[in-house]
Amino acid sequence: MVESKWELPLIAATAGLGFAAVTMLFSSVQYMDGISRAAENNVVYEVMTTSPELARLQMTVAARFLPDSGISDDDVALRFGILENRMVVLGTVESRRLRQDSAEATVLIERMQRTVADIAPWMEHMETPVEAAAVLKAIEPLNSAAARLAALTTSTSATRIAENRAMLIEIFWQLLVGILGLLACGMILVAMLRRARKRARHSAHYDVLTALPNRLSYNIALEEEFERGGRPGSLVVVMFDLDLFKQVNDTMGHAAGDRLLSLVSRRLSTALPDAVIFARLGGDEFAAIFRALHPKPFGESVGRRILACFERPFEIDGSRLAVSTSVGIAVSDPGDATADDLLKRADLALYAVKEDRRGAFKMFQPALKEAYLERQTFAKDLETALARNQLELHFQPIVDLRSDRTAGFEALLRWHHPTKGLLSPSLFIPIAEETALILPIGRWAIAEACAAAAHWPDDVSIAVNLSPRQFGDPQLQESVRMALTRHGIRPARLTLEITESVLIQNDATVLDTLTALREMGVRISLDDFGTGYASLSYLTRFPFDAIKIDQSFMRVSPAHPHNPTIVETICDLAAKLGLCTVAEGIETPEQLDMIRRTGCRKGQGYLFDQPMTLADCATRLALERLRSIQAPPKVEIATRRIPGATTNQP
Ligand code: C2E
Ligand code: MG
Ligand code: MG
Repeated sequence: MVESKWELPLIAATAGLGFAAVTMLFSSVQYMDGISRAAENNVVYEVMTTSPELARLQMTVAARFLPDSGISDDDVALRFGILENRMVVLGTVESRRLRQDSAEATVLIERMQRTVADIAPWMEHMETPVEAAAVLKAIEPLNSAAARLAALTTSTSATRIAENRAMLIEIFWQLLVGILGLLACGMILVAMLRRARKRARHSAHYDVLTALPNRLSYNIALEEEFERGGRPGSLVVVMFDLDLFKQVNDTMGHAAGDRLLSLVSRRLSTALPDAVIFARLGGDEFAAIFRALHPKPFGESVGRRILACFERPFEIDGSRLAVSTSVGIAVSDPGDATADDLLKRADLALYAVKEDRRGAFKMFQPALKEAYLERQTFAKDLETALARNQLELHFQPIVDLRSDRTAGFEALLRWHHPTKGLLSPSLFIPIAEETALILPIGRWAIAEACAAAAHWPDDVSIAVNLSPRQFGDPQLQESVRMALTRHGIRPARLTLEITESVLIQNDATVLDTLTALREMGVRISLDDFGTGYASLSYLTRFPFDAIKIDQSFMRVSPAHPHNPTIVETICDLAAKLGLCTVAEGIETPEQLDMIRRTGCRKGQGYLFDQPMTLADCATRLALERLRSIQAPPKVEIATRRIPGATTNQP
């Protein structure tokens, strides 16, 4: 975090310093050029050679009229021409710098130019020694001017060289500082890069929340341990997860869930110091690897150690949370081809604990693999069950307890398995939910139930069970609408039964879907009320029409003295909230008596009838109509047994 705060300024500083260094290099080249030009300047040369040229002109003029001097007018003109040329050069732009640097030089140059211009006509008409003497006299002041100009030129060019050198030295120091700054920035950036790389490497191998090694590290460690076959002892792989962790997240929030995971990892790290590695594989799933000389008893002792860690509750935000865990353990086998085989076996053992009873550990046994393979085949069979028309709906009457007449039927799925016979939904619905097959199966059940209801009188309703997963089905509402329209069923005749596990998901889509279905006119019923994590607030937060009181409350025995009171309280509450009540699982006349006394509106159970085929529903309804025509309102309750599910039989 701190690094990332400095990263941008550092990059900007490096770029700025680099740019400044390049600029300084360019300026130093310019200053060096200035130095060399100051030394080699044409004007300097011209000025410096003006005095000797003047002397030569004077000597030539002086000797012009001496006998045998051999000097002609042309020689004089040549020398004067050279002088004139010098004056032209001093007037050009090249000498501007010199004139700028020294005001005296400007005065001198102008004076010299004027003198030369003045004596030019004399030079042309110099015919006598007297005239030559006059010329020499006129030239004379030029000597001192030329000497002074030479001195001035030398000093200005020396000053210029000195200035350029001073600038160069300054630039050198600035450049040095810049380069040192660049070096420092570069070194800090490299250090930051190395740290970031180290951290990336760490986060690729460690879990951020718990600081435990992650799945990648775990797989590498397992692979390494597996390769080291020669070491004494066998490998023991342990996998465990927290039971019902999702509910902790859903009810207490994700922050509490994260806190729980950290506490678990801390407690377990202390309890498993002998592990080769203890890692968090993801979510609430943890795993450890051990090496042991007696792997089976050792594995069992590890299982017990892990369970012992969960005996004390975890303290989260001031509240104490009791959590259990399920542990699967596998021991390396000479037959294991890869480390993955071992992992899969531990996973199978864990799955078996979850299926069986949570809060326990299980060592892998070959039977578990067989059961797993069987489950796979079963899931495959279920995939084709719909297409092969092996699914069927049975219907169990829901009776109005005031009139004793059939108020409706609950549609209950059955599977005619090719080899296993008629199967209860509790055997295949969990697998359908795991594999998402529940979505097409659920849509089919709604359509089939509406088709059945089309054969019944308009005041007989139909209830269909909805799985939590169906709330993730984008086609759910449309399939309900289509089924109702196709079979001409009034929406109020259809009740969708949901369980509290749907509500515990607590997300907006569940509420939206329920509201949309209700707006369609469909009724919603809360099934198996009182079994889950019932919160009375659900009753006000979600739009229900009815509550189905779970069959566990029907037990009327000294062991359950409070059941009648509980049922009565639920019925009172429902009546106050304007909800209908249905008592499930009424099996005996005593239970029916108890239910009647509580004021419950409807009942369902083997005492009235078992789930039946569509044809039996028609017979039941016809008989009921006949009785109502023949006899006064008292309805005799049928207790005949019609073949139903292979489970749930009384
Ligand atoms: P449920 O919705 O609570 O259905 C009532 C279950 O109790 C049915 O079992 C029914 O046969 C049984 N039952 C009825 N009266 C009595 C009684 O007096 N005593 C006893 N012991 N049991 C009684 P079934 O048909 O095996 O269904 C079990 C569960 O499977 C249902 O519980 C429901 O949750 C689920 N299910 C059934 N059909 C469907 C379906 O189409 N879709 C979904 N998603 N779930 C379904
Ligand atoms: Mg139900
Ligand atoms: Mg129920």
